[in-house]
Amino acid sequence: MDHFLYRDGTLHAENVPIPDIAASVGTPFYLYSAATLRRHYQLFTEALGWGPHLVCYAMKANSNQAILKLMADMGAGMDVVSGGEYLRARAAGVPGERIVFSGVGKTKEEMRLALEGGVRQFNVESEPEMAALSQVATAMGTTAPITIRVNPDVDAKTHAKIATGKSENKFGIPISRASEVYAEAARLPGIEVVGIDVHIGSQLTDLAPFELAYQKVADLTRRLRSEGHTIRRLDLGGGLGIPYARSNLAPPLPTEYGRMVQATLGDLDCEIEIEPGRLIAGNAGILVAEVIYVKEGEDRKFLILDAAMNDLIRPAMYDAHHEIVTVIEPSPGVEQTPYDVVGPVCESGDTFARARDLPPLRAGDLVAFRSAGAYGAVMASEYNSRPLIPEVLVDDDQFAVIRKRPSFDEMINRDTIPEWL
Ligand SMILES: *Cc1c(COP(=O)(O)O)cnc(C)c1O
Repeated sequence: MDHFLYRDGTLHAENVPIPDIAASVGTPFYLYSAATLRRHYQLFTEALGWGPHLVCYAMKANSNQAILKLMADMGAGMDVVSGGEYLRARAAGVPGERIVFSGVGKTKEEMRLALEGGVRQFNVESEPEMAALSQVATAMGTTAPITIRVNPDVDAKTHAKIATGKSENKFGIPISRASEVYAEAARLPGIEVVGIDVHIGSQLTDLAPFELAYQKVADLTRRLRSEGHTIRRLDLGGGLGIPYARSNLAPPLPTEYGRMVQATLGDLDCEIEIEPGRLIAGNAGILVAEVIYVKEGEDRKFLILDAAMNDLIRPAMYDAHHEIVTVIEPSPGVEQTPYDVVGPVCESGDTFARARDLPPLRAGDLVAFRSAGAYGAVMASEYNSRPLIPEVLVDDDQFAVIRKRPSFDEMINRDTIPEWL
């Protein structure tokens, strides 16, 4: 459920009519609903309410400072995957003890940064990384708390680019080698094992692959404990999917996920961490764009928008489907016709949807891409020298620009021409 609904024939974000925001900010822009973000966090923390847990928002989904502050104010932790994300989380007021550091390629510099500023744990993904962390922590005279990310070799049944739990993926250590690697961790100075980490992929629409992976984690917990390791924390990753298309079956709810976690891991006396990104932010955001032209092709109509693949790359990158709705509610019974919905960027990949049925549209009309709050703004670029688009947050009847649109000069002046040129 989200808070983007028609009222009196106009799409609202909570209690603000979207045309008001468009008039004030200019299109295109990202628009987020604070109430939806809060609700999604609450759903997760309630779903795990049967035991000690921490919801660590995977901030790569949407790392705007205002979003992070909103999450942190409710008590959320953060899952970060780079030094930049770590510093962003700290800048938004997230204490180090609520930050978990994931990622296959942490540099020593990033390790130092996190050890200095405080960190809940590193989710270590390889033996060379563990050796590097041991060196960094020892040199700093400190100890790094770690989990080791295991790759359970489970098919997450999601898009290949976002599946991470098969042996062919670059992530984690093979679960079959876990005993060996945990023994090595116990020998290394400057390292303290606190648990196990797993993350099998993103946009999962079925609980079965999670359950399979978590059963393997349960077995591994018992085995590692019998081998003398302290396993008191289980980081279960993120990955729960969201309904992008209304016609699809709804993915499982956090409540069902929480019950499954309790059934598979609830008797192990461990603190549970989860790292949801998409489910927190995805349906809490939309992208609002304006129609520039309706172009009649030979055998189709093109709806040319002022938003493009550089603003929202998911359709081009993952063949992703986003619902597209008109900001003015279509009158009942109006005839829908198919449009190819495209942006102005100079490549055919700049196509949001093909043959999408929409009510009649004209230049100047506003449309909204739903489910654009996660992996939208954070993946945007300035390809074709299109400045990054602004982000706006609505909270009840108020809204604020939380990232402003850079001017053309700001964009151009980031470059420097060498004096010898
Ligand atoms: C991307 C990622 C997540 C979040 O995945 P979602 O599908 O957005 O929930 C969580 N943990 C790790 C390690 C990730 O890489």
